[in-house]
Amino acid sequence: MNYRIALLKGDGIGPEITESAVAVLERIGARFGHHFQFTPYMIGGCAIDAQGEPLPAQTVRGCLESDSVLLGAVGGPKWDDLPGEKRPEKALLGIRSALGLYTNLRPAKLFPALRGASPLRAETVAAGFDLLIVRELTGGIYFGDRGYRTGKYGEEAYDTEAYSVTEIERIGHAAFRAAMQRQKRLVSVDKANVLETSRLWRKTMHRLAESYPEVEYGDLFVDNAAMQLVRNPGQFDVIVTSNMFGDILSDEASQLTGSIGMLASASLGSTTRGMYEPIHGSAPDIAGKDLANPIATVLSAAMMLRYSFGLSAEADCIEQAVNRVLERGIRTADLTGDTGIEPVSCSAMTAAILSEI
Ligand code: NAD
Repeated sequence: MNYRIALLKGDGIGPEITESAVAVLERIGARFGHHFQFTPYMIGGCAIDAQGEPLPAQTVRGCLESDSVLLGAVGGPKWDDLPGEKRPEKALLGIRSALGLYTNLRPAKLFPALRGASPLRAETVAAGFDLLIVRELTGGIYFGDRGYRTGKYGEEAYDTEAYSVTEIERIGHAAFRAAMQRQKRLVSVDKANVLETSRLWRKTMHRLAESYPEVEYGDLFVDNAAMQLVRNPGQFDVIVTSNMFGDILSDEASQLTGSIGMLASASLGSTTRGMYEPIHGSAPDIAGKDLANPIATVLSAAMMLRYSFGLSAEADCIEQAVNRVLERGIRTADLTGDTGIEPVSCSAMTAAILSEI
């Protein structure tokens, strides 16, 4: 098969880490008989320098014409003094909205070899964990009516949360589909004991659950979910939740894995085209030094294979290669901690992953 991938390297370590992911995808292509065609487009600070704006129209067009999008990271001190509208980070919201990406997938997986890096107690993570948070990305309280007014006690501010059945259904289907590709267990997180939007959310999720009889489905209140994540993260497979709850819970879950350089993400809409990126930023402090950990971007490429192209065996192959490299004790500097292990460079880590594919 042929796949067209828009390559948005961005700024800072963006070019180094996307180069790793490209090398891994090319190796997968050679091994499994696929052709991945990469077309680079500018985004973020480099686009401001070259074309005067963080998200040039050509980049949006290129992404819309591609089968999927791989993004490094944007931003850096050089552009920090620009006004909000002109900053590199503005391009991220712009491209997500241009591509209609309303589903955010954030896996939080503790690789057995990195158990010591988790802030949780050793016995809590002894069995490891591998969970996926499906967060609604374009609705809810972050997009509702807001403002200031005079209330009972004088000046007050307000934000409103609204969710339509359509919005809940589309994120719900995305979550059930993701669960079908994993261990077939889904927990929906809400606050249905208090919020009307949560009651509609729960009612809609229950209706959808009837269409996915193979998926073991349950509900949790968000306060309990936050507690269960630190008590026993291994109990979860897929969690689906609203924009704000997902924002908070996905950060909580990601920290349980111990290192920001390991965490991948996917943003999806109603087509198979998605945007795949590490959750970390452009790390200007280590940019251009061949020090970055490329694993988050490599695992984002694996998510692309799984969720946009339906290539699960190929995605498994990448994830297993990363696991074997970590089992061999190979670590970039962000992962060594107080282990005394001599860290390897970004390119050496890439070479190690390639050697395991
Ligand atoms: P950051 O994630 O770039 O870096 C935080 C710390 O983690 C730094 O010490 C960095 O060296 C380290 N780090 C991050 N990724 C790493 C990796 N792959 N390997 C090894 N170490 C890694 O966050 P920041 O410093 O707050 O932000 C830097 C720039 O990135 C800012 O301009 C910010 O706006 C931007 N940013 C972009 C995105 C994005 O493109 N999606 C996300 C967050 C921040």
